[in-house]
This record gives sequence, structure tokens and C-alpha cells, in this order.
Amino acid sequence: MSYYKLCAISKATGILRNYHKARRKNPKTKDPYARRLQLTTCYGFKIKTLDKVLLLPFKPNQPLSIQLNAHVIRILSEPNIQIRSVTLTHERVSICYAKEVEPIQPRGLIAIDRNLDNLTLADSDGWIMRKDLARATEVKAMYRQIRSHMRRNDIRIRQRVTEKYGRKQSEKVKQILHHASKQIILDAKSRQFGVAMEKLTGIRKLYRKGNWQGRAYRGRMNSWSYYELQRQIEYKAHWEGIPVIYVNPYGTSVKCSICGLRMKPEENRTLKCRSCGFTVDRDVNAARNILARALRFGAVASASEAMVQEPQRRVILKVDADESTKSAS
Ligand SMILES: [Zn+2]
Repeated sequence: MSYYKLCAISKATGILRNYHKARRKNPKTKDPYARRLQLTTCYGFKIKTLDKVLLLPFKPNQPLSIQLNAHVIRILSEPNIQIRSVTLTHERVSICYAKEVEPIQPRGLIAIDRNLDNLTLADSDGWIMRKDLARATEVKAMYRQIRSHMRRNDIRIRQRVTEKYGRKQSEKVKQILHHASKQIILDAKSRQFGVAMEKLTGIRKLYRKGNWQGRAYRGRMNSWSYYELQRQIEYKAHWEGIPVIYVNPYGTSVKCSICGLRMKPEENRTLKCRSCGFTVDRDVNAARNILARALRFGAVASASEAMVQEPQRRVILKVDADESTKSAS
């Protein structure tokens, strides 16, 4: 059907462009091929919310009908939704849609500090909150153990099993993170607060080789779940028009959140400031430092002129017809 031609051509052009770019760097680059077969169209499809079906062009006057579940229908019937395109692969249907979002003027900020097994929040009303993520760490530790106990000698089987457990693990951890990020965004939305987080490129440097932390610890701290949590919070925030501010992470975990001098670690994950005597939990201290840095941007007091991030009026999300989770595209 000609409806599919345009998108197919643009997809193929993209692959070819990447190939040409790669070949300029390395003349031995292999011939390009479409790795995942998929059909995308921006035209000719129809969504009938009453019948809960998606009609895709198939043969003249004989559309292919795909049943949609109630969750997808509910989202697509929301106001200000524009449906952009439909992608069909051998196992799922993705519907891409855009929403016009009015950015909120934040009344305050919630700073989020991500740690190995908890999230610590500090907001500009002075509240401190902690969300337990120990479950995510447990899941990861469990799968790490399963993988380390595999005794098959066949490398291909070992690879396949490792991949399978890796997928299962990341799905489970993602679910736990979705729960936490959803709660944070609901709270921010109801109070009209913005969100502040550390810029993660800096975090990796803190935990890189040569910092005397050992390979296993670095592995856990550098794991993708930091990025995944940030990704979730960011797209959920944008979806609601909540501003997201990123601050430089340098020193947030060691500097005193009252006077700014370097603190001394004490027992039970607390820190003590040598100059002002302030004693505080290290995660709380970090969250307060992030909050202070974000507030220094002035995003709350004079939002219009001091906003650092680009205006985000239009966000595109992807909804899989067979899933309840959304992912940014
Ligand atoms: Zn101090």
C-alpha cells in the first residue's frame, strides 16, 4: 500500500545515511540491512474509539483491524492528544502521539538524590522524604547471583540465558522505578513544584576507576538504573508540564549544606561539619545541596527569565497496545 511507502523510504534513507557516515570512517563497514522489520505509517490509519479498534490500510477498502485495550483507548481519548503515527512489528503495535502541554510556573522545587538503595527528596517547603529502593537492589543482586552460578560450557547457550535473565531483571527493576517516579511526579503536580536532579554525566566520573571503590561497587553505582530513573522522571514531568532542572553534582555528597565546607564522615552514614558543627544524614545532605543549587538558578522566584532548560511544549510518547507502561520516543 502506498501509505507505507513514504515512511519505508525515509527509514531506508536513514539507514543508508548512517552507513555512508560509517564507511567514511571505516571502509570495511558491512553492508547495511534492516535489523528489525517494521511497518510505520503516518497516513491512512484510523482509530475508532467506540469500537476500540485500530484500522490499518491493507487492501483497497479492506482495512486490517487490530483490537485496542481500554487503557490505550482511555489515553487516546484525552483532550489535546494528536495521534501521529502507527508502527507495527512482528510482536507489537506502537501508537505515537503528541500532547500540547502548558508548562507550569513552579511554586517550589523537589530535589531528588538517588542512592544505592533509596531516593532522598528534599523540597523547598523544608520536607525531607525517603523512598526505599532496596527491592531494586535485591532484584539485581538475585539475578547477579543466578548468572554467576551458570555452569554451561556452551558460550551461545550461556549468552542466551544471560540475555534472558538480563531482560527479566531490567523489567522488574523498571517496574519498581516506575512506581517511585510516578509518586514523585504526582506529588510535584499536585503542589505545582518543579523537580531538580543531578546531571548524571558527572556521577559516572565520581565512580570511575581509580577512586578506590572496587569494581563491584562501581558497577552497581554506574548501573543503568540511575539513567532509567532519571529518564522516567524527566518524561513524566514533561508530560505534565513540570520543569526539570539539572545541577552540577560536584561535591553534593561531601559539602556541608549549611556552610558549604567539606564534611567529615561519621558513623551510620552521617556527616559532620567541622566548621559549623552541623551533623546530618549523608543522603539528606546531598538532597539539600541539590535543592540549594537548583534554587540558585532562580527557576522559582523569577521563572520567566532564569529558566535554564529549553521550553517543552510538545512531547511525544509511545504507547504499546499491549502494555501499560509508556516510554519516551
Ligand atoms: Zn557547615
